[in-house]
Amino acid sequence: MVSEIHVDEIRDRVAQMCIDAAYTLSDDVLTALDRAIEIETTPAAREIIRQLKENARIAREDHIPLCQDTGIAIFFVEIGQDLRIKNGLIAEAINEGVRKGYRDGYLRKSVVDPLTRRNTGDNTPAIIYTELVPGDKLRISFMPKGGGSENMSVIRMLNPTEGVDGIRNFVLECMQKAGANACPPVVIGVGIGGDFEKAALLAKKALLRPVGSPNLKLELSSLEEMLLKAVNKTGIGPVGLGGKVTALAVHVESFPCHIASLPVAVNINCHAARHKTIIL
Ligand code: SF4
Repeated sequence: MVSEIHVDEIRDRVAQMCIDAAYTLSDDVLTALDRAIEIETTPAAREIIRQLKENARIAREDHIPLCQDTGIAIFFVEIGQDLRIKNGLIAEAINEGVRKGYRDGYLRKSVVDPLTRRNTGDNTPAIIYTELVPGDKLRISFMPKGGGSENMSVIRMLNPTEGVDGIRNFVLECMQKAGANACPPVVIGVGIGGDFEKAALLAKKALLRPVGSPNLKLELSSLEEMLLKAVNKTGIGPVGLGGKVTALAVHVESFPCHIASLPVAVNINCHAARHKTIIL
């Protein structure tokens, strides 16, 4: 049976998502920050994380953004192939929702033309990835991505012989270069395999997982654990002032690749690791 959904509903729900994500840090991130307080031993590092939690509480209760950088709007959309979208196009509905959400929520508009640097004025266009899936539902995941952490993202085509050691060294190099600029403690998305753009997409998609939830494939969850330990040994620490928790989690996604290739992408999310998902 074919279900229907009106574009106005998509617009309104997207607008609310933009506001919710900006004001409310989700429970998985708060729980990860609680764990970080337990792990940290120096008063300074513990106090910084306590202040991040206090900032999240104030934002939630006073209905104000967690951070002044309310990000570029990124959407991963799964469209059930038995769903009909009525009265318009889904991309337009999402962009209309972003316009409304960023306006009504008083969120900073951060999107500019890349060359003239002229602000588009309404935080559009959103970046939208769509995928057709079985069923009649619409699943919309939203991630507003701040410039500080996004700028620290890197992709590299490794030599396949570099293997897991090469991947670890690359992730560590990215984090060392990022330092305080990515607003640690961070969440690190690592995309391994596919081709050039697939690896980058995997790295970003990995950030949508609830923070600290392991990959279901054992070899990838072991890799996540190993990378997290290695990153946290760097001592960069909360906001870069030293400590044991530089990253709250490392999420790895992989995809088969060419025999001659080993693409690896690192996409970093800051401590304001905002993400929301709705199913319509
Ligand atoms: S990187 Fe994150 S926490 Fe830092 S300024 Fe940007 S949005 Fe805010």
